[in-house]
Amino acid sequence: MPASSIQSYFPSSSPSKVAPGDGFTPEELQLSPPASAWVPVLDYEESDITSLEPGPRHLTLMGRVVNFYDMPKPSKRPKAAQGFVKIMIADDTGTMSVRLWYANTVYPLKLGQLVTLWTVHISQGDGQVGLASNAAPLFTSIFPENERNCHFMIHERSDDGSMFKRPYGALDSQVLPGLMTLKNFVDGGFDVDECKLLVCVKSIGPRKKFTNKNGTTSDLITAIVLDNSSEGYLTLYGSVSGSATAWKPYETVLLIADPGWRIDKTAKLSLNANTQVFIDPTIAEARYLRALAQRLTKKEHVNPPFPHDLFDAEEAELAAVKVLYKLSEIDEFARTNPRERAVGYVSVIVTEVHIVTNYKREMLMSNECCGKPMFASKVKARCHQCDRECTLRINPRILGDVIDETGTISTGKLIFSEAAWEQLLGRTAEQLVTASLDVMKYLEQRLLFLRLTLGFGIHLGSEEIGRLVVWCVKM
Ligand SMILES: [Zn+2]
Repeated sequence: MPASSIQSYFPSSSPSKVAPGDGFTPEELQLSPPASAWVPVLDYEESDITSLEPGPRHLTLMGRVVNFYDMPKPSKRPKAAQGFVKIMIADDTGTMSVRLWYANTVYPLKLGQLVTLWTVHISQGDGQVGLASNAAPLFTSIFPENERNCHFMIHERSDDGSMFKRPYGALDSQVLPGLMTLKNFVDGGFDVDECKLLVCVKSIGPRKKFTNKNGTTSDLITAIVLDNSSEGYLTLYGSVSGSATAWKPYETVLLIADPGWRIDKTAKLSLNANTQVFIDPTIAEARYLRALAQRLTKKEHVNPPFPHDLFDAEEAELAAVKVLYKLSEIDEFARTNPRERAVGYVSVIVTEVHIVTNYKREMLMSNECCGKPMFASKVKARCHQCDRECTLRINPRILGDVIDETGTISTGKLIFSEAAWEQLLGRTAEQLVTASLDVMKYLEQRLLFLRLTLGFGIHLGSEEIGRLVVWCVKM
């Protein structure tokens, strides 16, 4: 049975002339004059997705975008619809499909967005590809530019990330049905109905172009994802690919239900018509996976940022009691007070300085992006993975061992704040990288075996065990 058009539910309307499965007649696809701010004139009933039934009803629904696909249908007629976006929207109770027709409006859609829609009709999908997927059999077809009783709204500022974050009504006390690891997926789990993967983004590749079968080009982005068993790839094609730019390596967790896949030693995942992607769901497994991923980065980071949230240099500077410690005493303090946070001063000597060598090796500055170390003798550099421009910090390895009479801090282990580097070097990072070689050589000679007082902090509650942070340098 073909899906009914909205008009067939209203006695005064003319019969639909379009092919079965299309929601609108050509007349309906003509635009009315553009409306400015939309104000509902009808009473709309609020509904969750699981309680929807097919038929005409004035409904308003909220949910998050879990999949979408642009279907351009260019028309030369003025004011006609130029295509639609097929969107899957999920709340905590279920998933539905939306055909959002557009003429001039560009909807800046991304996976995970909170949206509200107002519609006058819900239809039952009839299994035809493209109308509504099996995972979201109920659908609505709306053309807000032409139908004043339909509207689609993306919540940007009003989304605090708390609504509809428990897909399938997930409970912390129960494992989600169908949830498996990447390794189990590769080993045959892809055959399981309603299989689900929970992965953390490890890195995001650059935006690339590919040519479709019909000769048009569109974008694709591939992200490397991981869980506690393995790594895999997730490729987003077309307009949905822009969603990946908002993801953060080692932080963003994706729950992917019914992914498209190709197994090639590892899992190569993509989005098909049934796939649903939930971003950062509030479920226990997601929190566990994020903690696991972040532990990986902390071990590897080549230049951890100064923890400004833990140590306030101004406050430390104003402390009434200023204690000078020996390195051995700090070591002892760390062993006996594992939960404490302390600040104080140490008087030390730098035994090696490597500014010139690191400059020549293009390693004067460093940082990490997408979990990969980056080095350059410049303040800014582009990440090879995500193509974003990153700000680099001074490479802590320009200082060799730092010693006092009682102990040593080995190369690269101190975490300087930007201000502390500036006090030590007498210049900003920008001035350092643009200095002449003569100035760099002079700096090395001046700092070598110089007695320095470092204002330090140590916090053993964090994972930076054994690393001192330096918030000021006095000569
Ligand atoms: Zn990057």
